[in-house]
Amino acid sequence: MSLELSGLRHVVVAGAHCDDIAIGCGATLLAIREAFPQVTVSAFVLTGAGTPREAEERAALEAFCPGVSVTIEDLPDARTPAHWSAAKQTLGMFARSLTAAADLVIGPHATDAHQDHRLLAELLVTEFRTQPIWGYEILKYESDLPHVTTYIPVSDAQARAKSALLHQHYPSQTGHAWFDEEAFLGLMRVRGAQCNARYAEGFVVAKSVIEIGEHS
Ligand SMILES: [Zn+2]
Repeated sequence: MSLELSGLRHVVVAGAHCDDIAIGCGATLLAIREAFPQVTVSAFVLTGAGTPREAEERAALEAFCPGVSVTIEDLPDARTPAHWSAAKQTLGMFARSLTAAADLVIGPHATDAHQDHRLLAELLVTEFRTQPIWGYEILKYESDLPHVTTYIPVSDAQARAKSALLHQHYPSQTGHAWFDEEAFLGLMRVRGAQCNARYAEGFVVAKSVIEIGEHS
C-alpha cells in the first residue's frame, strides 16, 4: 500500500560530502519540488567548504531545488569521526539557524559503510528529534546497499534528470567506477521494481510516527 505525503513545507537535506544529497535523493528532491513548488529546502553538508567541490555542490543543489539554502562546513573528508564534537556543533548550529521547523529530514542511513556518512546519520537523529528522517542509499565500491524500507516512486523524466544533473554538475566525480548513468538509473530501476514503479529511490526509515486522520 502507499501513504500519501501532503502539506510539505520545509525539507532539510544533509550530506557528509558534496554530491551525497544529489546522489542519494536527487530524484526525490525533483519530485518534491514538482509536487510542492512552494517548499523550502535547507541543505547541510559536513565537508568541502573552501574546496572546488563547494562550487559544484552549490550549483548542483540550486539546479535540483532552485532557491535552496545551502550550508557547507569544512570538516576533513574521511576523518569526521575524529572530529565528532565539531560535527555535532556545526550540525546543531545549522539546526538552530532554521527559521521554520522542518517537516522532513533526509540524510545518510546509519549502516552506510562510509564513516562520514554513518557519523552524520547518527548525529541527525540527535538534532532532529521530532521529524521523520529518511536515510538515503549511496552506491559505491563497498557492498553496503541497505535493506530499504521506504520507496519514493519517481517519473522517468525525474530519474533521467537526476542522472543528467549529476553528470553536469559534478565533473570532479565522473572518474569513479560507480559514477555513470547505468549505475544511477539501474539502482533506481531496482527500487522501482520493488515498489511496482519504473523508477524509485529507496530509503531506510528506522522510526515512523503516523497519525490517523486530521490532527491539530
Ligand atoms: Zn559521501
